[in-house]
Amino acid sequence: MKTIQQMLKDIHGESGDGLVSCPAQAKSGPTLRELGRTLVKVHSWYTRLVRADDNGMVKCFTCQTWLPWTQAQEGHFIPRSKLGTKFLDMNTHPQCPVCNVVKRGNLLVYAIRLDERYGNGTAFKLAAIARDHRCEPPSRADLVEAISKYKALVKIEKKRLGIIK
Ligand SMILES: [Zn+2]
Repeated sequence: MKTIQQMLKDIHGESGDGLVSCPAQAKSGPTLRELGRTLVKVHSWYTRLVRADDNGMVKCFTCQTWLPWTQAQEGHFIPRSKLGTKFLDMNTHPQCPVCNVVKRGNLLVYAIRLDERYGNGTAFKLAAIARDHRCEPPSRADLVEAISKYKALVKIEKKRLGIIK
């Protein structure tokens, strides 16, 4: 026999859209979806900060324009929906909003830059990983661990840039 909560989960998925406003759910901490969003945000800081020069400037991976890390975005070669490549360093680089949003990733140039930076065939390799490597969605523990790992790395980079002491 299924409980009502289990049935709602079946209908709404693990993050339980229908359960978000339920007080019992709120008490148990952030939902998986909220943790996922936090990880995306922290990873985006990391991607931009780790590639920033000492003045906090980053170069758009595709058009090579310099801009402050705070104005850059985390640009993916393979879209974030593919879990196997979602957080690979090779798949994520700072991009300007024009390349990332207006040009939807500027992907032809992205592929060329990947091969220049990491060796011929890198773009194909990433595409193959995304195609063949079917990941299970991360568990709560995976997400919490990854968030804390990238938060620590972000702290190191922020110290390097003098953003925090
Ligand atoms: Zn650009």
